[in-house]
Amino acid sequence: MTLILALDFGGTKLAAAVVNLGSRDWLHHERRFSPMNADAHSDLEIMRSLIHSLLQDTKPVAIGVSFGGPVDAKTGTVRLSHHVSGWEEIPLKDLLEKEYDVPTSVDNDANVAALGEYRFGAGNGYDSLFYITVSTGVGGGWILNGQPWRGAVGMAGEIGHMVVDPAGPVCLCGKRGCVERLASGPYMAQDVREKMENGLSGKIIREIVRDNLALVTGKVVSEAAALGDELAQEILYRSAWGLGVGIGNVANLVNPQLFVLGGSVTKAGTRWWDVVRKIARETALPEVDFAIVPAALGDDAPLWGAVALAEIHRTSA
Ligand code: ADP
Ligand code: ZN
Repeated sequence: MTLILALDFGGTKLAAAVVNLGSRDWLHHERRFSPMNADAHSDLEIMRSLIHSLLQDTKPVAIGVSFGGPVDAKTGTVRLSHHVSGWEEIPLKDLLEKEYDVPTSVDNDANVAALGEYRFGAGNGYDSLFYITVSTGVGGGWILNGQPWRGAVGMAGEIGHMVVDPAGPVCLCGKRGCVERLASGPYMAQDVREKMENGLSGKIIREIVRDNLALVTGKVVSEAAALGDELAQEILYRSAWGLGVGIGNVANLVNPQLFVLGGSVTKAGTRWWDVVRKIARETALPEVDFAIVPAALGDDAPLWGAVALAEIHRTSA
């Protein structure tokens, strides 16, 4: 057997899996939540114990790693994590190669998920696609000519902070009206809360959270919208509108065949999808052709992407 070990360091959970080269089914698969006060050290400890229980006394030929934060993919060094402390400049590739004596590749989760969808999911059969995750944040990863495209310093694909409404609300990055500021789950929730505190009704939202506005989430907004709440519908529309404008502009600029959308906000329903598609279509030039489809791999996209990353490394080595 030729084993590949795939690792996923997420913001809130850690996962590891082993697959036989060429197979589409996991041999073993383990997932664990990282504790509330997790740091790089504790995440690595948990990952070591997952790896130990997966591998037993077998040895993989390659390791692929998805990391939830900016990574220098050339050196496999983590720049930092926005969710877990202590990851600043950790040489994750070197560390794992020393420990397990196996060639290792590391990249950030959006690039890795793009690769996973391209090789094993919704992007199979295409050679240019842009993967977008719409979740707590909004991020993206490129596949161009069948290869990941990371940009000069690994920052390509940051559609989350593309400005689509320069007069819009202020984003955590300091600019106004970024795609993430309009489309992400937490920002949708924040906007609903603020509008309700300023007197807008949101009657159905209020019922769902039993008057406790702290409990409003992106999920609550989409539930209330489906039940006919006008405020929720307005905010959800703006989420889809912002993403649609971003996608249309990206289509004009780079002309990929496909946009693959993952992350939980994409579960917001057909109305959200219709608006994303319509606005993207209206924003792009008529000659610029593309499709927008849901991701196929779900929570396992980073792990399958890590397998693909390890495979690329093996064939190019
Ligand atoms: P992560 O950011 O950890 O990858 P998710 O992809 O699950 O996690 O995204 C979480 C965000 O998605 C939360 O803000 C949540 O409220 C929102 N969300 C979850 N389900 C839905 C839904 N059906 N409609 C809209 N937003 C949703
Ligand atoms: Zn921003």
